[in-house]
Amino acid sequence: MNAHALVRLSIVIPCFNEEEVLPETARRMGALLTDLRRRGEVTADSGVYFVDDGSGDRTWALIERLARSDLRFHGIKLSRNCGHQNALLAGLLDAPGDAVVSIDADLQDDPEAIRGMLAAHREGADVVYGVRRSRDKDTLFKRGTARAYYRLLAMFGVEVVPDHADYRLLSRRAVEALRDFGESNLFLRGIVPRLGFSSATVSYDRAVRFAGESKYPLRRMLAFAIQGVTSFSATPLRIITLLGLLVSVASFAGSGWVLWSRLVQGNAIPGWASTVLAIFLIGGMQLLALGVIGEYVGKIYMETKHRPRYLIDRLAVSEPVAPAASLPQSLNTTSLLPRKNRTL
Ligand code: UDP
Ligand code: MG
Repeated sequence: MNAHALVRLSIVIPCFNEEEVLPETARRMGALLTDLRRRGEVTADSGVYFVDDGSGDRTWALIERLARSDLRFHGIKLSRNCGHQNALLAGLLDAPGDAVVSIDADLQDDPEAIRGMLAAHREGADVVYGVRRSRDKDTLFKRGTARAYYRLLAMFGVEVVPDHADYRLLSRRAVEALRDFGESNLFLRGIVPRLGFSSATVSYDRAVRFAGESKYPLRRMLAFAIQGVTSFSATPLRIITLLGLLVSVASFAGSGWVLWSRLVQGNAIPGWASTVLAIFLIGGMQLLALGVIGEYVGKIYMETKHRPRYLIDRLAVSEPVAPAASLPQSLNTTSLLPRKNRTL
């Protein structure tokens, strides 16, 4: 990449009920873009793409207002709540630009790190991961579970960048490569390292949420964690096979011992308890194994449907953006076009 080339930058921000933080987030992003533009790092048509993930509050109204008031702000409204990962994907695949940065709406990820990401991109990185420097703002519980989870992923052979969430820069060619990953069980953190290309990391300090509440309660976090494993690794299935093998070998040995004591030594093995225990143990293990297999079968079921991962309800566009010919509206108007997946 040419060290002096101006980069057209798009910042993608998924928003689910974020009315409390949105104005401040927009202000911070606007100021950052202004400064990057002044320093000659990004083009004038660089912008921010807010993706409204089916919010029930005033989020979309705020996004529309932002798009009307500032040419650099744009909105993509999904038809319903599709989840963080799909909202992110909608923004990544629909935003224009040479480089696309995804960042949460709540200002937990320091927007200033985008400067470092751009620098790494200019040096040739196609993927730049935002990595948290420390976790001291997290609760002890979150820190402990995060560490255990990374260990688990490593054990199952899932390649992720530790302490990196979905704050990252992707070059145009990385985004286009991502487009070819058609899976509906989306776990971007696992997919992006699989893209390959040259990558870099930029560290930043993660703050607490600026306002509003986390949209990831424990239940959703757990589901997301399971997704991370089952979307990238068949190791749990192999563990079942191994476990089955182990139990079978042990039972064969056990049977040998029972026969030997009965026939050779003439003892009957006492043990109602041991019989019942063994039944429960095996029953439990079988149910667990079925459950794990079921998880994978469920995934296959969802994948074979090839349902769209998100549907776009409408756009709030401040200007005709690339590809310029595809949109009919004139400059500086907010358009509200019902649509299916079309490029902004
Ligand atoms: N989000 C979303 N759809 C959802 C849940 C969350 O678009 O169904 C967005 C949310 O608005 C935020 C980002 O995803 O910008 C991360 O969510 P949050 O900050 O609540 O998660 P946490 O940081 O607590 O893990
Ligand atoms: Mg957050």
